[in-house]
Amino acid sequence: MLSTRRVGISRDPRPTARRGGVFVALVAAAVLGAGPGRVRPAAAQPSPRVHVVATGGTISNREGGRLSAAEVASLAPGIERYAQLSTEQFSNTASGALTVAQYLALAKRLNALYRDDPGLAGIVVAMGTDTMEELAWFLHLTVRDPRPVVVVGSMRNPSQVGFEGPANILAAVRVAADPAARGVGTVVVLNDEIHSAREVAKTDARRLQTFRAGEYGVLGVVDPDRVVWVRRPIQRHSATSEFDVERIDSLPRVDILLTYQGAPADLITAAASAGASGIVVAVAGAGAMSGTQAAGVREVRDRGVFVVTATRTGSGRISAGTADRTATTDAATERRRAHTLVAEDHAPLKARLLLMLGLATTREGHELQRMFREY
Ligand code: ASP
Repeated sequence: MLSTRRVGISRDPRPTARRGGVFVALVAAAVLGAGPGRVRPAAAQPSPRVHVVATGGTISNREGGRLSAAEVASLAPGIERYAQLSTEQFSNTASGALTVAQYLALAKRLNALYRDDPGLAGIVVAMGTDTMEELAWFLHLTVRDPRPVVVVGSMRNPSQVGFEGPANILAAVRVAADPAARGVGTVVVLNDEIHSAREVAKTDARRLQTFRAGEYGVLGVVDPDRVVWVRRPIQRHSATSEFDVERIDSLPRVDILLTYQGAPADLITAAASAGASGIVVAVAGAGAMSGTQAAGVREVRDRGVFVVTATRTGSGRISAGTADRTATTDAATERRRAHTLVAEDHAPLKARLLLMLGLATTREGHELQRMFREY
């Protein structure tokens, strides 16, 4: 179902008058013989190539029929000043309808695009905003190339007054085409802001400034004159990631359960009985559970399920237990310890996807805990 096509966008996007100017300069240089020491006329720089992969979402959800990938890529007049675009339709659906199998397939596809096209500057993925923070994080961990993946969408649809899709796709393409985007991994670009996939979350059901990275803030902004970067991710991701999707056929089930006053154990044991290899408990504060959850956690750990605690607060870090691990204990206690992990500063949604990838590669508790520290 994958198709690739180029958008009907000029290969030489500069205005005709400027093209003429460069032509005259090139002819003059040829006649005068521009050599070392002489001032060469500025050579025409080929504009960077950016590939847009559309998956659906509000940005394509026009009343009366969804926009195609080529239509999404062409939303912004003048976009060809920044990049030569090609497009591809991966799916055309709401983000919540994407399956984990499609996550894997998309990651494989983006890796292949970069592998097969060394001259490609960047990739833009257009999608729905509802689960954008999940797919963006998954791609951050699995697209193993220094070139960027820029995830974009819109809060208003093409049939609504104030549709911001054109501004967002323009900003996303500018970021993907920016040489300084190399090494940042996967970023989310909406509302002229650049957020790291590691930290970003949708924080408002309606507002245009919905994407936020909590206390960490933006990686940069997209201003009219240039893309401005203010910080870069330091944790492992993309080119330095160990998660090779070519070796993963399917991902194990990992569920998330929330701590709330009086939360029961039976939901935790039910998740394990339904086949979860891992459970993320979105705990209160820096690790508190409630009700009978702790008993449920003990039971599933004895059954070999990995349990990760991630804070439900929206920011802050849970550190690994400080209990004395040198004291020799019985095998059952050791097993429980090995299956007890903390998410560090990862939100529950991000911890879940990281645990799924981790469990696809190892069943060693200390290795899984290392991943939460390093990514
Ligand atoms: N329901 C849409 C989706 O996530 C919302 C959006 O695109 O903003 O696909």
